[in-house]
Amino acid sequence: MDGARLEKALREMGEVGVTPSGGVNRLALSDADREARGLLVSWFRELNLEIKVDPIGNIFAIRWGHEDSEPVVMGSHIDTVRDAGIYDGALGVLGALEVLRTLDDADVETVKPVAVAVFTNEEGARFQPDMMGSMVFTGKLGVEEAYASRDDDGVTVGQELVRIGYRGEDSLTPSRYLELHVEQGPVLHSTGQKIGVVEGVQGIAWWHGCYEGQANHAGTTPIELRRDALLGASELNVRLRALAEELGRGSVATMGRLRPVPDVINVVPGEAEFTVDFRQYDMELFTEGKRRVESLVREAADRHGLSWSLRQSADAQPVRFDGAMVDLVESKAMSLGLSCTRMPSGAGHDAQFMSYVCPTAMVFVPSIGGRSHCREERTDPRDCENGARVLLGCVLDLSA
Ligand SMILES: [Zn+2]
Repeated sequence: MDGARLEKALREMGEVGVTPSGGVNRLALSDADREARGLLVSWFRELNLEIKVDPIGNIFAIRWGHEDSEPVVMGSHIDTVRDAGIYDGALGVLGALEVLRTLDDADVETVKPVAVAVFTNEEGARFQPDMMGSMVFTGKLGVEEAYASRDDDGVTVGQELVRIGYRGEDSLTPSRYLELHVEQGPVLHSTGQKIGVVEGVQGIAWWHGCYEGQANHAGTTPIELRRDALLGASELNVRLRALAEELGRGSVATMGRLRPVPDVINVVPGEAEFTVDFRQYDMELFTEGKRRVESLVREAADRHGLSWSLRQSADAQPVRFDGAMVDLVESKAMSLGLSCTRMPSGAGHDAQFMSYVCPTAMVFVPSIGGRSHCREERTDPRDCENGARVLLGCVLDLSA
């Protein structure tokens, strides 16, 4: 395996959509995404891979084996958030490309086909929901519903797929799925471990809520007569934190958005819109946490005389990856002499949906300082190479 070649590919891909500030803007289905897809497909063609594009624009590049069977698939995504780094997603795709280049260099003929998957719109920064390509691929989201998703300018996924030339008609049935990814968190970097053996992905629930009270004069309205919507939301926020601490075992709850109306210094807020993000890895605790988040929303409203509405916009269940696949990743890391630790993923990944259709696992490598979704995102080139080596080891076993 050629670590320098992998690093060069990461840097070249990182030039696509780069801004003067040094961050990468490769929003899904944008011109930069089209350019990145073009670059990648040109690299796939150099290896004489068969290229397929499915209706949601996922790209599959297949290296045929002796057998005409279901391929072992490695993959990730090449879209980014705004002002991103060059590793999130790209490492999984380019690490997979490096695996195929290595197989070619060594004239390895596998029994099963081996393929690279490039999933559309993993990030959800422009079109929601995130992980759109893998959700459609695995039947968790209808393709028509995905086509209808609009960005802030009212442009749809369906229109953009046609415009950039990636609305295909092909399909693929994977036998196994492996995803190499940067950890995007601090665990590996801070403990000095080289490989994260990902056992699963925590459940994620999102809500959009609104409290309605009564806007009134901040000077003349006595405290006991107020119906302060922002106060209700503030109390909710504090109680969400307490809930996460009480549930424990890695529970996290976040009020990421809060918008008081009218948002004026001398007016009691009559309305407050808020969001809640709750995550937990254990299925039972995830279910209990969701129930309690919803009752906290009601309780805070009752205490402050508010009416309330709540809409759940995401409910991705916790996922446990296939035990044999997880064991395989661990054994390959160990046989390469790489220190490793089993861990859940805090972020969502295409692998969590792929796990519904075939045995799946993920390989994490350290993010320096735990930084991600920002231009400061870094991973040491040796760690990128280590991750790709683990991927290669697994693929050689699975495709034999
Ligand atoms: Zn990613």
